[in-house]
Amino acid sequence: MALETKGQSTFSALMPARASGTLQGLLIGVSFAVGLTVVATAGFAQTASQEATAEAPATEDVVQETPAAPAATDEAEATATEASTTVAPQITDAEVVAPDGDATSAVVFMYHRFGEGEYPSTNITMEQFTAHVKELTSGSYTVIGVPQIVSALSENKGLPDRTIGITIDDAYRSVYEKAWPVFREHNLPFTVFVSTEQLDSGYANYMTWDMVRELSEADVTIGGHSQNHAHLPDFDIDRVKAELANSAARFKEELGYVPDIFAYPYGEANAEVITAVKEAGYRAAFGQQSGAMHTASDFMYLPRFALNEHYGAMDRFDLAANSLPLVVSDITPADYTLTRNPPAFGFTLAEPAPSMNCYPSEGTPTMTRLGDERVEIRLDAPISSGRWRINCTALGSDSRWHWFGMLYTVP
Ligand SMILES: [Zn+2]
Repeated sequence: MALETKGQSTFSALMPARASGTLQGLLIGVSFAVGLTVVATAGFAQTASQEATAEAPATEDVVQETPAAPAATDEAEATATEASTTVAPQITDAEVVAPDGDATSAVVFMYHRFGEGEYPSTNITMEQFTAHVKELTSGSYTVIGVPQIVSALSENKGLPDRTIGITIDDAYRSVYEKAWPVFREHNLPFTVFVSTEQLDSGYANYMTWDMVRELSEADVTIGGHSQNHAHLPDFDIDRVKAELANSAARFKEELGYVPDIFAYPYGEANAEVITAVKEAGYRAAFGQQSGAMHTASDFMYLPRFALNEHYGAMDRFDLAANSLPLVVSDITPADYTLTRNPPAFGFTLAEPAPSMNCYPSEGTPTMTRLGDERVEIRLDAPISSGRWRINCTALGSDSRWHWFGMLYTVP
């Protein structure tokens, strides 16, 4: 597959000065079997490395936040909100068609909270958010709905270069109170992934169903996120199916339809979970691994770039927004939950990428190149249970970063 090479001018202006050097000079504690010459920016290498190592704890906060005690005022607030009796039909792709273009990829961002400084790993400050919106509306990007991006790329239709999708996980109250007014003012479409039980529980830090209904009626895309925000690979498959069926029933009752795009809680999935999500009627599903999605992506485990206070600065935002896919195939392990630890991680590049390097969140990697295209990475020791990320990046001849990220759940 030919990688997108158009439209370099904007990105060049955004990139820090390039510097040549070996990666060992930039990273401490990471060694490779082959002495690769890497063309990289010092700032970028640091960003990618830190991202791999520091993104993991971000979602831990979600674990802690989920059981938040409901506030006493919840019920009063819920009943005070004017109930909507109408049910909006789901916006179908036939009604909203993505603009045409030559790009075969798009970048999707993931937010959680807005202006909730007590949760920095899942929050974005309003100053950061304002800067993101300013950049997205600068004219350099095409922001369209995630359903349209999924439709276009899954059907091998081109999109405008620098097409961006916006997703928000967990339906926190700050989405309604702080993010939506801004997105609405700028006519920026977005998708909210909802765990139904979090709304049913009436926690004050989550939206009410009335609020979600109001968003849905205003053409905000609502996506599935399981019933209980569960670690789905930990469940036996009947329980996974129950999670999906119960959440579907609640969506049907509250919104009048069942969403068809899903996000795995914590980005965790395995082959059985993915099959169950597909059989439940979802046509696309997102993980929490970084990278640009493209026509050859696994549409049941799509990448997204997480944005939070640690990874919300404009240099990192620009870098992600302008990134292109590093197209690979034959990824091993093929399942997204490890059955062998340490994993025998490998993949085949669609095009040689001699400057590519990889940054794992844990472990000392040894990278071996088999010919121009096969890459094998081994770790010196088993990795801790939880989630393991690895980001592989290469600066293309187009001066844009080509990115391939993986997230494995480690039992
Ligand atoms: Zn979530």
